[in-house]
Amino acid sequence: MISVEEARNRICAALRPLGSEQIGLTEALGRVLAEDVVARVTQPPVAMSAMDGYAVRAADVAAVPVRLRVVGEAPAGGGYEGTLGPGEAVRIFTGGPLPDGADAVVIQEDVTVEDDPAGGRRILVREGVSAGRHVRPAGLDFKAGDVGLPRGRLLTVRDVGLAAAMNRPWLRVTRRPRIAILSTGDEVVMPGDPIGPGQIVSSNGLSLAAFVTACGAEPLHLGIARDDRDALSDMIGAAEGADLLVTSGGVSVGEHDLVQAVLRERGMDLDFWRIAMRPGKPLMFGRIGRTAVLGLPGNPVSTIVCAVVFLRPAIDALLGRADAQPQTATAILGTDLPENDRRQEYLRARLTHDPQRGAIATPFDRQDSAMLWTLARADCLVVRPPHAPPARAGSTVEFIPLAGGALGI
Ligand code: AMP
Ligand code: MG
Repeated sequence: MISVEEARNRICAALRPLGSEQIGLTEALGRVLAEDVVARVTQPPVAMSAMDGYAVRAADVAAVPVRLRVVGEAPAGGGYEGTLGPGEAVRIFTGGPLPDGADAVVIQEDVTVEDDPAGGRRILVREGVSAGRHVRPAGLDFKAGDVGLPRGRLLTVRDVGLAAAMNRPWLRVTRRPRIAILSTGDEVVMPGDPIGPGQIVSSNGLSLAAFVTACGAEPLHLGIARDDRDALSDMIGAAEGADLLVTSGGVSVGEHDLVQAVLRERGMDLDFWRIAMRPGKPLMFGRIGRTAVLGLPGNPVSTIVCAVVFLRPAIDALLGRADAQPQTATAILGTDLPENDRRQEYLRARLTHDPQRGAIATPFDRQDSAMLWTLARADCLVVRPPHAPPARAGSTVEFIPLAGGALGI
């Protein structure tokens, strides 16, 4: 049995980023950049007002109150052609270009507009401003040529806005990994199909497909293979062309656990099988031709826990993600836990928030790896390292968040 960390490292080392494709920004959310995104424009392109008010020369309003003649207007998208002279102001609006000669903006709340006896309008400025006040200099946000978004980044809603502002309507992203999913077992049937005596409804195929989608990859749901060499072999054949084949069930040591044997017959190079982990001991990893193979245990909780711990990093490696955050955070333990054995353990737990102590993780009493009800209600997985001594309520523990985000796991 190898450790969780070694297994994860071996999986990630065996997977290279896939090729790339060009997409429009409306398709960019959740994709991973395959290029550095360089700004094609400078933002703002010229100095602009940050407020509605009057563009002035700061020196003119050093002593207030003072009267200035309004000589023109600078709306957003327009501008004032002339140069501001001493004693002059230009009516300006948020996003309006700052006229030549002006170096500050007085907000409209700080002036009184009057008729100018000499004709036109003038303002009485009641509050002074220093040079640069309420002005956004050219290039304040970014300059043409700046790398705004680096290769390997998972694009967020905010990144889409930045790319648009940088005048980059097209982006090059890693193509979505194609992940074939195969469930196994004589006892499992697809949801909606007739259920024979002793049979159960398969959850793994659909939860794995949802998981793969949530990780930014494309699921190919192959269906359920019976515990029969020929059936398994045929259905494994259908995974050809996938970047990764994920199987569930049939990888333990029972007589009906044929997945590894059939994969080997079909030419799989086995990298490892069995890891020091609970749930998830019989995890298997290998490769057939260009398709990597990840064999997950069949118990539904083990399947999802192993997907969180191994499949997500595997997909990140195929996507070439450079910004994947460490999976774990820390919380205060909400209950006592016994000493752990040599297998790293993942406990389904609730997360609550205490105003004084912060996040509190409380594992559920029952941790059976067939219980999806508690898994669905869990907010996180508390991680217990191999041989961890007994842990007291109130001590610090590591956890992996599950919920959160529109595509929470
Ligand atoms: P196995 O690894 O094939 O021995 O499966 C372990 C346990 O997981 C057994 O109790 C199976 O019935 C169950 N199981 C296997 N595949 C699925 C599935 N697709 N959905 C729900 N439970 C499953
Ligand atoms: Mg089975």
